[in-house]
Amino acid sequence: MSRYWSPFIRALTPYVPGEQPVNSGLVKLNTNENPYAPSPKVLKAVRSHADETLRLYPDPEMKALKEAIAAYYGLASSQVFVGNGSDEILGLAFLTFFKQTRPILFPDITYSFYRVYCDIFQIKATQIPLSKTFDIQLVDYQIPNGGIIFPNPNAPTGKLLPLSAIKMLVQKNSASVVIIDEAYIDFGGESAVSLIQAFPNILVVQTLSKSRSLAGLRVGMAMGHADLIQGLDRSKNSFNSYPLDRLAAVGAVAAIKDDAYFQDTRHRIMKTRDQTVAKLKTMGFEISASAANFIFIRHKQVGAGTLFNRLRDKGILVRYFDKPRINDYLRVTIGTSTDMEAFFAALEQILP
Ligand SMILES: *Cc1c(COP(=O)(O)O)cnc(C)c1O
Repeated sequence: MSRYWSPFIRALTPYVPGEQPVNSGLVKLNTNENPYAPSPKVLKAVRSHADETLRLYPDPEMKALKEAIAAYYGLASSQVFVGNGSDEILGLAFLTFFKQTRPILFPDITYSFYRVYCDIFQIKATQIPLSKTFDIQLVDYQIPNGGIIFPNPNAPTGKLLPLSAIKMLVQKNSASVVIIDEAYIDFGGESAVSLIQAFPNILVVQTLSKSRSLAGLRVGMAMGHADLIQGLDRSKNSFNSYPLDRLAAVGAVAAIKDDAYFQDTRHRIMKTRDQTVAKLKTMGFEISASAANFIFIRHKQVGAGTLFNRLRDKGILVRYFDKPRINDYLRVTIGTSTDMEAFFAALEQILP
């Protein structure tokens, strides 16, 4: 705290990301990064553009990247927005669509950044409790609102809603924008991008951070009706005209275009996830089906706080949220099968 901070900033509680240790040798299963390297084509593109053109600003319209994304999803470029990670896009989207008279709606257990955006933009929110089994019950969202947002699959539970349920919600909720945060959709879900042509009030947000192994490049995208995208542009251009740098832009284009590499790595992660779940069940863990690159697990005898600390002592970093309802659970990112072997070996030493 400093007396120079504005009263507004003093009152904020910022988001706290998972620990990012430098060269620790820890097996890092705490922030849902992809354990596989980015596509070699991405690295080649970034290297070949690290040259004198960096003296120039990047294209403020990000035309080449929007075209690559539009072609991949069968959209028009005018239906695509890109940003410095999807976190930035979510922030701009809250500002653009959610500063309304009525409160916005999101689950009580979900990505904790949503609460933070509400605070910084002074947006009212009603948090809708998940069911006892941690499911999002969309009937609970059929009330007057200033907007709706949730991740699909949800974080940190990994639980997926079918596209048909999302379609029904978007259709019934035509008076406000529904944002589907698809950070993990490529690990087993069906994207709501297909609803964009029919519904003017859905915004689908995705990221290259998880399924395309590019958390370090900071590239996210939003897809929706051109009117929604124009609104996002107004917010972006009132804040930073160039959120993506030249290297991120060329790297992102290469990532979108290398579909073979993307398919291979995401399928590998899904396979490792299913093997991990089967093994953990034999070790006394309760796990519900995950459609993400992480699992949300609870041990029948050993508390999550204890497990978190003892795993860390053994060089395995996972995520523990000391919050009501979920403080019995650990969120564990799916790594390579070698990472998961190290995780199992540590657990075998810890568990009774
Ligand atoms: C990781 C994550 C994001 C942010 O991703 P970036 O593109 O790296 O900013 C957004 N939403 C959810 C639910 C996430 O887990």
